[in-house]
Amino acid sequence: MTQTHTNTDRSNWAKNYVYRATEILEPASIDEVQRVVAANRRVRALGTRHSFNALPDTDVLVHLGRIPSDPVIDAAAGTVTVGSATRYGDLARHLHSEGFALHNLGSLPHISVGGATATGTHGSGDGNGTLSSAVSGLQLVTADGDLLDVDRSTPGFDGMVVGLGAFGVVTRVTLDVRPTFDVRQDAFVGLPWDRLIEDFDAIMGSAYSVSVLTMWSGDTVDHLWLKTIVAEGGPDDIDATHLGAIAAPSAELFDEQPTNMTVFGGVAGPWSERLPHFRLDSTPSAGEEIQSEYLVPRDRIREALTALRGIGPRIDEVLLITELRTVAADGLWLSGASDRDVVGVHFTFAPDTERVDRVLPAIEDILLPLGGRPHWGKHFLATAERLAPLYPRRSEWIELVERHDPTGTFRNGFLEERVFGD
Ligand SMILES: Cc1cc2nc3c(=O)[nH]c(=O)nc-3n(C[C@H](O)[C@H](O)[C@H](O)COP(=O)(O)OP(=O)(O)OC[C@H]3O[C@@H](n4cnc5c(N)ncnc54)[C@H](O)[C@@H]3O)c2cc1C
Repeated sequence: MTQTHTNTDRSNWAKNYVYRATEILEPASIDEVQRVVAANRRVRALGTRHSFNALPDTDVLVHLGRIPSDPVIDAAAGTVTVGSATRYGDLARHLHSEGFALHNLGSLPHISVGGATATGTHGSGDGNGTLSSAVSGLQLVTADGDLLDVDRSTPGFDGMVVGLGAFGVVTRVTLDVRPTFDVRQDAFVGLPWDRLIEDFDAIMGSAYSVSVLTMWSGDTVDHLWLKTIVAEGGPDDIDATHLGAIAAPSAELFDEQPTNMTVFGGVAGPWSERLPHFRLDSTPSAGEEIQSEYLVPRDRIREALTALRGIGPRIDEVLLITELRTVAADGLWLSGASDRDVVGVHFTFAPDTERVDRVLPAIEDILLPLGGRPHWGKHFLATAERLAPLYPRRSEWIELVERHDPTGTFRNGFLEERVFGD
């Protein structure tokens, strides 16, 4: 007898999208996932619903949150294998307690490993690839309900990782791990925009993970956040005056929602509690926002920032905050960082799609011609025709999907419009 539950909540996290799926099923075992997939003509996986668009949607959605996470660390191989619905924050705490770490985390620890992997989610740091780049193996349920294991030795694996849910329902993910480490976070203010654009490489390379949080108007950026690895005994202080920024008075930070954020002020702590901006045990925000992001080739970032500053007042009318982060190149075919180092130019907008969609065409007209690729999990307007030239391996990816899923069980309207095209 099936133990599958049905979830009646139809909204994504931000409540800017309502799934049109007739059912959202929550099986309690991998066997049940196999039965659900085999029995349905159109089915896809749903993670923790943190995407801002219709990417997950189809007739029947399957969320794997009731299947035990069961993390298995293989110290000799340097990997952990975990259930795909596991939240990064839960995995991170477990790994740290066992003496291990992931290379990086996104701003939010609440997102699922499977969902983040599928969309090329990233954190920051010149030497840090996307979270997907740490994936060394996947177990997935294919269209006929069979279980398939793939790893880095499997032909086409680099196409399957940032898979947009098109290859099947991923049940378990294997990730590279390393020894655990401590990190401190320090916030700075007063960095002039001109200095950021001029010294972009020095500033973004000044810590393990660097974020610039800002509006586009004005002469200075709002915040520079440096996340620095702390080795035994130091450093005592992190200074950014040589970069043109001064330490932020603590009163300037987070006075509205202080308990949401991970600890700043240079207090060292485990990577799991410092690399995300938000704390796992609190609500990240009310969800009243729309996010968009474009992964811009690093060698075009000065042009991009200068042009966006030119329309800064228009952007700021509907913007809550922008974040700039760097991401190292990976080899994953549909990754925003595929084959080139990139800068994530992120916009957290007010929850007003109509106003966002009035400014987004101008942003896309600047960033797409510079090679900017939209984050698959965030809100964007461009369709397949404009996106195709940005992904040299798109045709190969489409052929791989057609081989794995000839009947289109995992295809949906979003993929037809944004990836497959005509
Ligand atoms: C507050 C907030 C902060 C964010 N911060 C960052 C950030 O720092 N960096 C960044 O890059 N992005 C960030 N994002 C975006 C987020 O990481 C992506 O949207 C990610 O895909 C969300 O994962 P999810 O589990 O919610 O996926 P969902 O939104 O549920 O699904 C996304 C896609 O993944 C597929 N998928 C999910 N699970 C599986 C599975 N088991 N098997 C196959 N396919 C699956 C779905 O079919 C769908 O195509 C943020 C989003 C929010 C709301």
